[in-house]
Amino acid sequence: MNDTFILKKDHLTGFLRRLKKAYRLVAPVKNRHGDTLFTEIVSIDATAIDLENQAQSSVKPFLFPQEEVLFTYSTSSHEDYHFKPDGNSVPTVYFGLRSCDLSAILYMDVAFSQAGRDPYYLQKRKNAILVSLGCNNPFENCFCNATKNGPFLEYGFDLQLTDLGDRYFVEVGRAQGQEIIDTLSHFFSPAGDTDKKAQYQAFLEARGNFQQFVHVDQALKRLAAGDVPNTLWADLSLRCQDCAGCAYICPTCVCFTIKDKKLTKDSGARIRSWDACTFSGFTRMAGGHNPVDPRTQAIRKRFLHKMLYDPKKHGRPSCVGCGRCVNMCFGGVDIIRFINRLCE
Ligand code: SF4
Ligand code: SF4
Repeated sequence: MNDTFILKKDHLTGFLRRLKKAYRLVAPVKNRHGDTLFTEIVSIDATAIDLENQAQSSVKPFLFPQEEVLFTYSTSSHEDYHFKPDGNSVPTVYFGLRSCDLSAILYMDVAFSQAGRDPYYLQKRKNAILVSLGCNNPFENCFCNATKNGPFLEYGFDLQLTDLGDRYFVEVGRAQGQEIIDTLSHFFSPAGDTDKKAQYQAFLEARGNFQQFVHVDQALKRLAAGDVPNTLWADLSLRCQDCAGCAYICPTCVCFTIKDKKLTKDSGARIRSWDACTFSGFTRMAGGHNPVDPRTQAIRKRFLHKMLYDPKKHGRPSCVGCGRCVNMCFGGVDIIRFINRLCE
């Protein structure tokens, strides 16, 4: 599909209002503290949708919640257990996703579709319609150009918007996107040659607007060749404060742990929640032994997973270049610093 349309900015609020009547709507919203976070929209008119700034959070928690009940159980006697699977989802439009965030969803699709396909994620994903917004001006710590995940996308979106000043250029990527255009056709007009040229110009200019120059390809080669300075892991691990902020904020970190929780004398729930390889307890075994020394190796697992194991397995790194861990890490152990140290 390569149909293209124009949505005037004056019509955006009306369009979203109509969209919300048919779907649950999630978009980046500026809250009263000035933070922009992906949020479920309750009222379009009472919400400050923010398409100018990068959302601090990604949409990961909507598809893979930080804590999620997998099933509840109850028993009337010790022999007679009843299990009730949890999980439901409704058709949801994720509006205003940046290219890196949509690429991260494509990565999660792969991770949760492997052996032992995850019904909880896949159910939410099946109900997800993805409307992305290309980045004319990448943010301070973005490097999606180096990971080949942006600033604009060629596939993966249902609709992709490009900001052309007073209007959005809208590309249709998949059938669900076309359905929205068909259903709400009065908001759209066909894109003309001037619009197409303006969109291409925005695309060309965006590639020249990155502030970060990150040598991802060079880092991948060095890691594949085992060409890592001896002291690098220990140096980085010593800076890591074991907070897991980087993994929690990262749109492609999908490690989790599972626990059973007693709710009443006769019932309980099995719950999964995010876990992170930078936590020192991540690899600790019953009895207290930890085969991985967190003082020297904590950060190694994280970066090797993204930059060595995933490229070997999937042909590309699982860092999408969103730069969030750069903003997050107060220890200064973000992935840009790692790549720079590796390529020194
Ligand atoms: S690398 Fe930084 S953000 Fe990640 S756990 Fe360590 S201190 Fe926290
Ligand atoms: S490692 Fe950092 S830059 Fe890469 S996807 Fe995760 S948060 Fe974004």
